[in-house]
Amino acid sequence: MDTALAKEALQSERARMAFDLERLQRSLGTATSGSGERLDSGLDDAVATFSSELDEGLMDELRGTLNELDAALARIVAGTYGECVECRKAIPDARLAALPASPCCIDCQRRAEHS
Ligand SMILES: [Zn+2]
Repeated sequence: MDTALAKEALQSERARMAFDLERLQRSLGTATSGSGERLDSGLDDAVATFSSELDEGLMDELRGTLNELDAALARIVAGTYGECVECRKAIPDARLAALPASPCCIDCQRRAEHS
């Protein structure tokens, strides 16, 4: 796997996710002006009620994806990208091409899902 290409894919995906997340936050009225990522858990009830559970779920999903992308970018920097975080075997290029942020090989992923 060409890590320069992977890095590009991860960064553009990350930018897209960050954009989506920001737009969603704004539509929910939870975005704070200017200060970036201050998500108060003490958000007042009116706003909390206003935001639907669907959007909350979507935001969680986006945040999770962003974390995965950040972790993958960190692995590129560390020189361990393309290596399964569980068993240290090389993740096949086809899998990385389809899922550039995937932290582990298919075997370990399956194990994680079934445990
Ligand atoms: Zn593995």
